Amino acid sequence: MLFDLPEDLKDSIVFLNGSYMPMSEARVPVLDRGFIFGDGVYEVIPVYARQPFRMDEHLRRLQYSLDGIRLVNPHTNEEWTRLVLGLIDRCPHDDQGLYLQVTRGVAKRDHAFPKNARPTVFMMTNVLSTPAPELVACGAAAITAVDNRWLRCDIKSTALLGNVLMRQLAVDAGAHETVMIRDGWLTEGSASNVFVVRDGVILAPPKSNLILPGTTYDVVLELAQANGMRTEIRPVSEDELRSAEEIWITSATREILAVTRLDGKPVGSGAPGEVFRRMHRAFTEFKAQLRRAGHA
Ligand code: PMP
Repeated sequence: MLFDLPEDLKDSIVFLNGSYMPMSEARVPVLDRGFIFGDGVYEVIPVYARQPFRMDEHLRRLQYSLDGIRLVNPHTNEEWTRLVLGLIDRCPHDDQGLYLQVTRGVAKRDHAFPKNARPTVFMMTNVLSTPAPELVACGAAAITAVDNRWLRCDIKSTALLGNVLMRQLAVDAGAHETVMIRDGWLTEGSASNVFVVRDGVILAPPKSNLILPGTTYDVVLELAQANGMRTEIRPVSEDELRSAEEIWITSATREILAVTRLDGKPVGSGAPGEVFRRMHRAFTEFKAQLRRAGHA
C-alpha cells in the first residue's frame, strides 16, 4: 500500500461503482476527474435509527447539483434508495453520517467533458458525529471573512477548496466556523447555513446561487413555523449580523449550534439565546419522534 487509511475506517464497508467492499480495497484510477479537477458533486445524509433522514430532499438536491454540472444521474431514485439502504445495513451504527459522491469519471486529462466517461459513484458511512453537549450548551466561536468563492455555491460540488481555506481560517483562529460576507451581505458558513435573530425574529438569507440550499435550513424554518416562531427570509446585512441578538449555524451533522462569539466579541449576552434554546428543544423533540417512527 502506498498510503495509509485511518485505522478505524479501513475495514468499514464502502460502495464503489456497483459493489460493496472494505474501504481498504476500494480503488479509484488517478485519472478520475474527481481527483484531477474536483469535477463531481456530493451529498451528506444523516441516518437516524438506520433510516436516512430526508432522503427525497437529498436526492432532489443531488439531481439539482448534477444538472448544475451537466452530468447525467447514474441512478434512478429507486436505485439510490436501494444502494443507500444496502450501505446502511453494512454499518454497525444505528445513527450514521452517510456520504455519497458522483464524479465525471475517468478520462485523459482535458478540461472539456469527456465523450464516453462513466460517472464514478462512491459512498461511505460512519457513526454520526454530532456536536458535543458542552458545545451546544455554551455555543461556538466563529470568525468572519469575505466570501471569495465562485458564484455557484448552490451546487454541492466536491471542488471545495474555497470552503476548505475558509474553514482553516477558523481553525487557525481557534474558532469553530467562518461566517462569510459578500458585498456587505451575509452568505453562509464554510460548511453550514447561518441564521440571525433580531428583535426575536429568525432571519435567514434567501436561497440563491450564493449559498447551498441546506436541508437543515429547511428543517429549521419548518420547525419555526410549526412552533409559532417568527421568521423572515431576506438578505441580512453585515451590520445586522454584527449586532444580532443571536447567530446560529446549521448543517446535517452539526445540527443547530449557537455562535456565541463573533470575531472575538460576544454575540448578544455571550451565551446561547432564548430563541436558540427553543429551536434546539424543538429539533431534539423532532429527532426523537423520527427515531420512534423509524423503530415502529
Ligand atoms: N452550506 C455549506 C457550504 C455546506 O457545506 C453545508 C453542509 N454540507 C451547508 C450549507 C448545510 O447543508 P445541510 O444542512 O444540508 O447539511
